[in-house]
Amino acid sequence: MAPLHKGTEDTESAPFRRLALNPFFGQADPVGGMTQAPPRHRMPDGPLPPSSAYQLVHDELMLDGNSRLNLATFVTTWMEPQAGVLMSECRDKNMIDKDEYPRTAELERRCVAMLADLWHAPDPNAAVGCSTTGSSEACMLAGMALKRRWAMKNADRYPSTARPNLVMGINVQVCWEKFCTFWEVEPRLVPMEGDRYHLDAASAAELCDENTIGVVAVLGSTFDGSYEPVAEICAALDDLQARTGLDIPVHVDGASGGMVAPFLDEDLVWDFQLPRVSSINTSGHKYGLVYPGVGWALWRGAEELPEELVFRVNYLGGDMPTFALNFSRPGAQVVAQYYTFLRLGREGYRAVQQTSRDVARGLAERIDAMGDFRLLTRGDQLPVFAFTTAPEVTSYDVFDVSRRLREQGWLVPAYTFPAHREDLSVLRVVCRNGFSADLASLFVEDLDRLLPELRRQPHPFTHDKAAATAFHH
Ligand SMILES: *Cc1c(COP(=O)(O)O)cnc(C)c1O
Repeated sequence: MAPLHKGTEDTESAPFRRLALNPFFGQADPVGGMTQAPPRHRMPDGPLPPSSAYQLVHDELMLDGNSRLNLATFVTTWMEPQAGVLMSECRDKNMIDKDEYPRTAELERRCVAMLADLWHAPDPNAAVGCSTTGSSEACMLAGMALKRRWAMKNADRYPSTARPNLVMGINVQVCWEKFCTFWEVEPRLVPMEGDRYHLDAASAAELCDENTIGVVAVLGSTFDGSYEPVAEICAALDDLQARTGLDIPVHVDGASGGMVAPFLDEDLVWDFQLPRVSSINTSGHKYGLVYPGVGWALWRGAEELPEELVFRVNYLGGDMPTFALNFSRPGAQVVAQYYTFLRLGREGYRAVQQTSRDVARGLAERIDAMGDFRLLTRGDQLPVFAFTTAPEVTSYDVFDVSRRLREQGWLVPAYTFPAHREDLSVLRVVCRNGFSADLASLFVEDLDRLLPELRRQPHPFTHDKAAATAFHH
């Protein structure tokens, strides 16, 4: 075989021959090469054979943790092989090219319609929404819509004098701090108080004023898996409106709960059934059961999403509205979301989420029964629970437990709560599809085996608490 890129003897056609080849098709000499490891922080001068490059990357990644034993993440770590096949079939499709990939665009629209129906939009056909890379982007978009609506209503005062604010619990996910920083909105955070670890209705209403663009209610909190009382918050804001005339919209951050509550807590009223709820987001890649990254943002109706935020791209000769921070984005996750909706249906989702909740509750009970721990939540809202050491435990702390569990391969984060419960440090377990009852039993056995040693410690051993608490929700 002629060496790559040397062309043929025919000098006339040589430049054309070169250009006809994809440089990736070349095989570097496997005997002559690899006398030296390639540099890691500078692009190597020359190419490697694909098999060598693959092996180098593959081997380094072996040191990543096992994602299935990661009890810290909410993000999907297992999908069916068929979903994987579909995703690899679509990994070359760009979500923004609606005109080139009209079927992918159509599947996105169907997903939005299904979510609008699931979340009881008064008129599912009138609800508007879009896919995103995750809840963070969805929250940015929802926050922008809130800010823009407020700005339009207050054009006489903004931007000259008024400064917009957003009211939420201090337990919100970090994306809301990002939103406030990026879009110059004052965050008004309700602190934790005693055994209340999330936003309550009275405090939310109290912090609102004429510059409040909205209230964020979280379903459920990343700190402990609890649902915030969305209906009570809405009622408190109804009352506020009756008293003061202030009409403050609510955004529900349903990153996790948006795909749990509709199946397991059908009597809970938290979604578009509440007229004050103007928008909702969820992470398709959390309890939506799709690999990362896909999220969803929906608005009750077109009035909730100011028209000037919406851009238009070509679509089948006409144009299609898009609302996104990104331009290019993979289509595979959206296709996988549609696949999962179709594959599971409501009953399937119910079965999957119920299993996760059962595992979470069972595990919480067994940890409670050990006696060394005190549960903050029991896994009966999100399939997530937080626990701390019992008051009489002084020889070790939650950071020791997290570190020792890691030796067994389990990733269980320990972190300190925010104001006013900085005194409280907890461990949190997130039960997802794929974390089976069998795995949960192995986890309990490992924890049980560690306890005698932990109890024999003279004192807690984690010195660098700052590093230990640098966990991001
Ligand atoms: C995970 C999470 C987010 C951020 O979502 P991503 O999909 O990771 O971007 C926002 N809010 C809550 C409540 C979350 O749990």
